[in-house]
Amino acid sequence: MNKNDIVTVEITDIGVSGEGIGHVDGYTLFIKDAVIGDVVEAKVMKAKKNYGYARLMKVITPSEYRVEPKCAFARRCGGCQIQEMSYDRQLVFKDQKIRGNLERIGGFTKDQIDTVMQPVVGMEHPFGYRNKAQFPFGTDKEGNPITGFYAGRTHDIIANTDCALGVEQNKEILEIILQYMRENKIKSYDEKTGKGLIRHALIRYGFKTKEIMVCLVVSGKKLPKAERLIEKLIQIEGMTSITISPNTRRDNVIMGDSYEILWGQGYITDYIGNVKYQISPLSFYQVNPVQTEKLYGLALEYADLKGDETVWDLYCGIGTISLFLAQKAKQVYGVEIVPQAIDDAKENAKINAIDNAEFFVGKAEEVLPEYYAEYEREHNGETAHADVIVVDPPRKGCDETLLETIVKMQPEKVVYVSCDSATLARDLKYLCANGYEIKMCRGVDQFPQSVHVETCVLLSKLGQ
Ligand code: SAH
Repeated sequence: MNKNDIVTVEITDIGVSGEGIGHVDGYTLFIKDAVIGDVVEAKVMKAKKNYGYARLMKVITPSEYRVEPKCAFARRCGGCQIQEMSYDRQLVFKDQKIRGNLERIGGFTKDQIDTVMQPVVGMEHPFGYRNKAQFPFGTDKEGNPITGFYAGRTHDIIANTDCALGVEQNKEILEIILQYMRENKIKSYDEKTGKGLIRHALIRYGFKTKEIMVCLVVSGKKLPKAERLIEKLIQIEGMTSITISPNTRRDNVIMGDSYEILWGQGYITDYIGNVKYQISPLSFYQVNPVQTEKLYGLALEYADLKGDETVWDLYCGIGTISLFLAQKAKQVYGVEIVPQAIDDAKENAKINAIDNAEFFVGKAEEVLPEYYAEYEREHNGETAHADVIVVDPPRKGCDETLLETIVKMQPEKVVYVSCDSATLARDLKYLCANGYEIKMCRGVDQFPQSVHVETCVLLSKLGQ
């Protein structure tokens, strides 16, 4: 196979990034946007010895799983990878993705996986589900400010204020910001030169409370003529918090380290189940509230609390899972690296009148081992114990020092909530080599139309 060859190929598999996979005379081709079951014409863009990457030129026979995308930019935009795949098939793909990682990386057998795996929890309406969006700002060829999303694997902005995954209010808010920028000659930040002001707009919407937050990330300290922007934004129903977050760093972290209130309060509130949460611009909060309720429900079901347990919730963010569990446990300890999130967590405990949750700022892999060592010192060699430990780490998974301490604390149950089933599988392998076994495993689709999937796993101490 050579570069620029045009081939006709049937798509027989899906890669981990959602791309179609087909074979031509034993040669494997990865074709973005081709759906399993399609017969397509594709042009080879990069040819290695046994495999290559090709561009989808034409769908000759569409797959039974191929659907019309809702968004005109679905193919170019980096946000959605599999919008052209039917939702039912997306769920099958996600189930297989988890299974594949458990098998390849975790070293579990098909039989083991079959006995613990439950079907992925999907959504009834898999669009318009995101309560948060971070829109980058840029400049078009005519010098006008634009906003939208990055094209796949680039930082080129596709101008689009109407993302199909977000809430309808996003469009109105973004158009107001763009108009304010045009009228007041305020420039978008340019990553290449470091010049310009507006970097990103963070918009959050409380699905239950209908409160809206707008936070502009700016490369500077002030927003000129801010009152002109505020005046327009506060006409939108539900506007609760308008802030700026100064960020003059040249890396690709979106938010600055702090924020300043321009109007209203510095946070919005929302509910998951009957727990009320206060969310500030810098805190992590699950983006899909409908599915989050199902995910936490599952974590709670797996933890199976009776009321006398000591529970640790590591990577607790604003205390979301902690407070959910605190209602059923004796004592919950939460650990989180972002100080503002811990401030929110403490406040959240207060507003829900929950007094059996305590929060610590720091790295989980430092706080828990230090707690363990100190407990041992203070209790004449007796070791700290937890009944249930919940972890919900970012994509890189848990540090091995943390897993080591978890094993030492001998909890009856570990509930692992993961947004990356590859690192999850790696960590499960460690826990299962050190006295634990998987009892239950289930995907929850927090991110329809994308290749990502959340997974919730229940582990028990061996022999229980
Ligand atoms: N359980 C929470 C948050 C999960 S997201 C929820 O469901 O809302 C992961 C969280 O881990 C983020 O809040 C992030 O700030 C935090 N984090 C990242 N690295 C960490 C570390 N090493 N130690 C503790 N927390 C960390």
